[in-house]
Parts: sequence; C-alpha cells; structure tokens
Amino acid sequence: MIRYALSCSFGHEFEAWFSSADDFDMQKKKSLISCPLCEDNDITKQIMAPALKGTKRKQSASDAQAFAAFAGKVREKIRSTHDYVGDKFADEALAMHRGEKDEKPIYGETTRDEAKTLKEEGVPAAPLPPAFAPTPPKKLN
Ligand SMILES: [Zn+2]
Repeated sequence: MIRYALSCSFGHEFEAWFSSADDFDMQKKKSLISCPLCEDNDITKQIMAPALKGTKRKQSASDAQAFAAFAGKVREKIRSTHDYVGDKFADEALAMHRGEKDEKPIYGETTRDEAKTLKEEGVPAAPLPPAFAPTPPKKLN
C-alpha cells in the first residue's frame, strides 16, 4: 500500500491509500478519485512532499515556479467555473444552503463574522489560500 498526499484543482489537500502507483494512475484516469471537500475529480499528487522528520526541505526555484503555475491554473479554473458574487458571498451561500436559491459554484469575499456564521450553519464553504484566490473580475453584473 502507498499513501499519497493529494490535492484537487481547488487546492484542497487530502490523503488516500492505493495498492500501487499504477493503481493511483488507473483510478485517476477513470476519475474514481474525488476530493472529499468538493468532489472535484481533477486530482494531483502534491507538488510538495511532506518534510521528513528532522530534515529541512530545500525550497528550489523550480518548486516555486511549479507552485506559481499550479496556483495560476487553480485561479483560472475557479474564475471560469464559479460566479463572482463579491461581498454577497455569505448571503448567497446561506440562501443556497437553505434551499432558497438554486445551488451554483460561487466565489467572493466574506468578513470574519460571516465566515463564522457559514461554519455554524454547516455551509460547505472553504477559505481559499491567497495564492489560489482569483482576482475579482473588473465588472460586476
Ligand atoms: Zn476540493
């Protein structure tokens, strides 16, 4: 058995066990692996290997570049698949969660208090690490 640290295209990190490296490739090809947080099937093995105890991982320039490219792809994906709702994110997410609105993927901003409310209400919203947060579109409609 092999344990892989995986991440989805939205940057959620999780771990999963596979019988072999081939098993992982096969399951990935068939989209059998999905993110436990958002069910995204676009899964990649994490670029950053977990540091071994007692050793310091050296950050190389190519690692940083690979990460920047990866983060760029995530931002692009969110921008193209999610609607930007600006500071209405908490209202929209709550309305969807309560079935008052049709569910659709959205992104936007919340205040710390709003984020807390969403969490208390059990709304499946996740804060994006800054590197993965798309810049808001110029025009809001
Ligand atoms: Zn995910």
